Amino acid sequence: MSNHLYDLIRSRMPAPEKTFAEAEDGRSYSYQDVEAISARFANALIELGVRPGDRVAVQVEKSIEATMLYLGCIRAGAIFLPLNTAYTAAEIDYFLTDAEPRVFVCDPARREALAPVAGKAGALIETLGASTGQGTSAGTLADRAFAAPLQFDDVDRGPDDLAAILYTSGTTGRSKGAMLSHENLASNARTLVEEWRFSADDVLIHALPIFHTHGLFVATNVVLLSGASMLFLAKFDPDRILALMPRATAMMGVPTFYVRLLQHPDLTRETTANIRLFVSGSAPLLAETHREWQARTGHAILERYGMTETNMNTSNPYEGDRIAGTVGFPLPGVEVRITEPESGQVLGNNEIGMIEVKGPNVFKGYWRMPEKTESEFRPDGFFITGDLGKIDEKGYVHILGRGKDLIITGGYNVYPKEIESEIDAINGVVESAVIGVPHHDFGEGVTAVVVKDGTAQLEEKDIHSVLEGRLARYKLPKRVIFVDELPRNTMGKVQKNILRDRFADLYRSTSAP
Ligand code: AMP
Repeated sequence: MSNHLYDLIRSRMPAPEKTFAEAEDGRSYSYQDVEAISARFANALIELGVRPGDRVAVQVEKSIEATMLYLGCIRAGAIFLPLNTAYTAAEIDYFLTDAEPRVFVCDPARREALAPVAGKAGALIETLGASTGQGTSAGTLADRAFAAPLQFDDVDRGPDDLAAILYTSGTTGRSKGAMLSHENLASNARTLVEEWRFSADDVLIHALPIFHTHGLFVATNVVLLSGASMLFLAKFDPDRILALMPRATAMMGVPTFYVRLLQHPDLTRETTANIRLFVSGSAPLLAETHREWQARTGHAILERYGMTETNMNTSNPYEGDRIAGTVGFPLPGVEVRITEPESGQVLGNNEIGMIEVKGPNVFKGYWRMPEKTESEFRPDGFFITGDLGKIDEKGYVHILGRGKDLIITGGYNVYPKEIESEIDAINGVVESAVIGVPHHDFGEGVTAVVVKDGTAQLEEKDIHSVLEGRLARYKLPKRVIFVDELPRNTMGKVQKNILRDRFADLYRSTSAP
């Protein structure tokens, strides 16, 4: 039998006793455990009636056992479908109704609340909890797995068979299930191991959630395919991370990790001396954060760009200039181009347009949404990412924001990133988000939402006066609003939709006829 993704993982395994992951309570799993425990989960799933192609939906707290369940699904030929731990019962209802999983695995504490939702969708409900501290984890699926055999005959799965469905965060409209094949995941992990020079000597600090592509596929699959080890934290905790740094060689994080670590006095050249690679992604890393990090630690953060639907697309180079504010070059085997959004005409260097990608990393389409899938691909197979950007003369890709965040004011296009960069450079500004909100005269009014540092004396007119000399008139924010912090989701992305709702009436009183 051949199982495309798991065969690859097995073929790369280091010595059986080598550590795969170490949990915060000191328990550690070796690569031999990876084989044995993922086999147990695969056996448990088969016992529950899971057949090839069945979905296994999972909403559990982060644990090493949950990664074993992911591998168990792959080996059993099932489709792993992780769900954000923050989702409410009503949201879970939507996902289960849409995905129709055979089994739904939740935290033991939520079983009672979610059993009716699972029942309605025709899914069996099982539970998997965090570690009990006795070398096992709690829950009915954990019990089944720990009673199941240590051997498993992997179910046959080819490169194009689905390995996972990840729902997009759905900030505009319904959340969509991105279907990812065995080869989508395998090819991207193979490439990243090479590009970022991962080896069995590496120890990765893993503090990301594992319901998202970053923590689940980028981090975990890269560790598995290089035979490396990971220090597995239940959540981001700057004190814990700094204490672990002398034992680690790499860390992957969202920009907020880096911003928060920079606020910690213990972040120094000495604490980070053992680390060879800091990776950032999932949201834009401010150029200022990049520079501050380099000044404090001597390390240039390597920024990369990806999304749920495509895995990773571009990366700054391992060797060579890691340019702040860019996401680097297309990864080997991945084609990236910039197009005029309406016509699809390919644009030249430094021209701003839609980022499109093609390659073995790009997903198979949206679950049960053939029309939506068709509308997001060009006839020649390029996926329309929805991100706006440009490629500069050296080949570095720059992201200028989501297409839906583009502001059209008085008929002119305004790219929020350009204005945000100018505002962020002003002394006393911590960060900013520029949005378009309804405006009677202009269609949308450019609006800046700014966080200033506690001591800064900045006022709206100060921001205006700096920008006036630097930006064309139509780009100038009509209003600057100061807030204590910007709303962010768990991956550190600023939720501009929330800001747009909050300030929707801003120009109503002044612009009504
Ligand atoms: P998700 O599907 O949740 O991973 O979100 C993908 C989106 O995150 C992309 O389409 C980009 O808009 C954004 N993104 C990911 N990485 C970066 C990055 N390095 N810089 C800017 N935006 C990013």
